[in-house]
Amino acid sequence: MEAISLHPIGYVISPVSEPKDMPPGGVAAEIEVLPQYQPGLLRVEENSHLWIQSWFHMASRDQLIAHPRGNQHLPEYGVFAMRSPGRPNPIALSLTKLIKLENNKLYVERLDAVNGTPVLDIKPYFENDIIFSPRTPYIPGKTRTSHQDTLLRQALAHHQEKCPSLYLAVRMALVADEVFGHLNNPELMINVTGSACLADTIQGLTRARLANPARFFYDFSTSLHQTIWTMNGRGTLTLTWLGNTDIMECADEELFSMDFKLD
Ligand SMILES: [Zn+2]
Repeated sequence: MEAISLHPIGYVISPVSEPKDMPPGGVAAEIEVLPQYQPGLLRVEENSHLWIQSWFHMASRDQLIAHPRGNQHLPEYGVFAMRSPGRPNPIALSLTKLIKLENNKLYVERLDAVNGTPVLDIKPYFENDIIFSPRTPYIPGKTRTSHQDTLLRQALAHHQEKCPSLYLAVRMALVADEVFGHLNNPELMINVTGSACLADTIQGLTRARLANPARFFYDFSTSLHQTIWTMNGRGTLTLTWLGNTDIMECADEELFSMDFKLD
């Protein structure tokens, strides 16, 4: 087949130069759009989030199967079933938050492309892009800390506010994940008692809906902050906040009482 030729429309300016140093959620960076393409940015700032397609020029192009996140403990996946940088056409897809536009420069957050990466295209993120509870494979982080970081990013993307209840939700979800696995499992039921922020963040982390199937139940309370996780045949985990406000630093047992009952 005929080769397709693409020309970069701009380049990434990032404090990170090596792919191995890039945190999974990306970093704040700039995209400098070449002057001849600048008219294409007209009204781009009406969007809070942008999809950035870039060319991972350092990635291998002869890879078809790999371990997700380079983790040898996880099963292998085909490159079209995951987002590893190595693939026949190393086109990267990054969802970024637009901070500001200055002339031909976009300032974005959460861009995982290194300094000098050629940018192929920029597209707005639409409400229609959301599938609230998609089916996805369970890919835990390499360590508890990295898994917690992933949950924290996901929580922030959904709840959009770094409030104490968000952090409490992340800590509770991490424990539930370690007990039950994938929080998006249609069999996992979640009962939340507490603030609206706790309920909202837990809902964002678990993708549990109120119906079809009904996985999410909520009671408002200002005195009790509790999540109850139930999976048929597996058991019930009850996590109740003990009132410690040092949420991200303290140990699990200082943060909540944990009660697990097998079915
Ligand atoms: Zn909140």
